Order: sequence, then C-alpha cells, then structure tokens
Amino acid sequence: MGGAAFVAEGETETLLDAREVSPGFLDRLLGRTRTAGPRWEQFGTKRLAHLPDVAALDEVPRAFQRYIERRFLDPDPAQRAVRDYLRAGPARAALTAEEDEDGERRIFFQVGFSGCAGLAEVTAQVCAHWYGFYWQDPLSEPLRADLATCGFVPGPAMARDTPERFFPLHGGHGYAQWIDGSDWNPAYRPHKDQHTWLEVDAALDEQLPDVAARLAETYLAAVEAGVEQQCRCPFCSPDFVRRDEARL
Ligand SMILES: [Zn+2]
Repeated sequence: MGGAAFVAEGETETLLDAREVSPGFLDRLLGRTRTAGPRWEQFGTKRLAHLPDVAALDEVPRAFQRYIERRFLDPDPAQRAVRDYLRAGPARAALTAEEDEDGERRIFFQVGFSGCAGLAEVTAQVCAHWYGFYWQDPLSEPLRADLATCGFVPGPAMARDTPERFFPLHGGHGYAQWIDGSDWNPAYRPHKDQHTWLEVDAALDEQLPDVAARLAETYLAAVEAGVEQQCRCPFCSPDFVRRDEARL
C-alpha cells in the first residue's frame, strides 16, 4: 500500500441497496428480473465494497487538477512539481462502503493519490493535504451537488493519520514532509535512519541521497527553537518565503 488519500464520510439512502438491472436476452426469455448491489469483500473483521457506476467520480481528478492550476497560476518550483505530478494522472476517486461485524455500515468518498511505486509518496501526501482545502472551497460545490445527485451526501473530511506539515524544496523538487519524533512511524520509512524526519520523495532521494540530511541541518535549529512548527505549504502559509539558502 502506497500513496495517500483524502477521505470524507457521508450518507446514502440508496447506494447500498440492490438495484434492478436491465434485463438481458435470457432474462426476458425466462421472464425474470435481476438485481445487483455492491460486491462486498472481507478484510479482517470488516467487509468493504467499492461502488461502481457513480458518474460524478469520473470528473474528480481533472477537477482537482484544474483547481490547483488555477490556484497557482504562477507556480513556484515546488508547486510546479506537484502540478506536473497531477498531470500524470495519479488520482482516483471512489465511493467505498464499510460494514463492521455488527452489520453497521458507513460510506466514504475517497480520493487516492498514487505513490508511484514508492517514488512520490510525499507528493501524494501533499495532494491529499491540498484536497482537504479544495473540499472546503466553494469551488468544489458542483462536485458535492453531483455526488448528492448520485445518492451520496458528503460530510466533512476525516482526520488523516499522517502528519500534514510540508516544506517547499529548492530546485523544483516538490516538498519535504516533516515527521518529528512524536509522529514517527517506523513503517513509514523502514530503510532509513531517524534523521529523515524531513521525508522527501524517494525519486529525489535516489538522485540526491544527502538531501534529507541537509534539509534536517537547515531546519533543525529553527525547529528546536520552536520557530518552525507549522506547515509551510502555500495553503497553510501563503506568505511563507524560504530564507535559507540551502542549495538543493
Ligand atoms: Zn499545508
């Protein structure tokens, strides 16, 4: 499992029901009607189902890409890296239903961003983070309306389980993700030492293997002084300008 996802729980009164499907030749011959509902698959104690045929989902990746391109009409190098990633088509939207062992059902709208086989995990995280801002923006209201027309009434975004603090990198390398000691998850990057509390995309790490360490040196003093405690992406810190001159 790689990549990152934006998730919002919602409600539906119709999407989980079995629906009558158009009869085929044999159905007409035999005078029978058929129904189809979500196909459930067991995962541990839960069952999950992806709901097909929800037309509003098809437009989701392109709508988000357009939103980011319009939001950053004159993108800086870090923003340009994210824009180029989105242009490669890494996003997929889905409606997923979950049923627990007591039969309680929940339904979610999800937009997943591919980690590109582990090479772009941080950029995927940036996109899931930014999708949260899109979700709150009135510009996403047509999407909500389309989803409601399809039978899904979306709710607020769910909290994400990875830290959402990013720093822009020089040189068009996208962003670094800040993972401090308390957020550290050994599963997140099992092959590196803990000095990589500023995670970068593995694609960059392969090109410039010392980049994470240099970033750490650059920011360590500021973090220890309690100066750098927040996300420095353009949504969270629109006025942030990098003052360090690290050549990355
Ligand atoms: Zn941010």
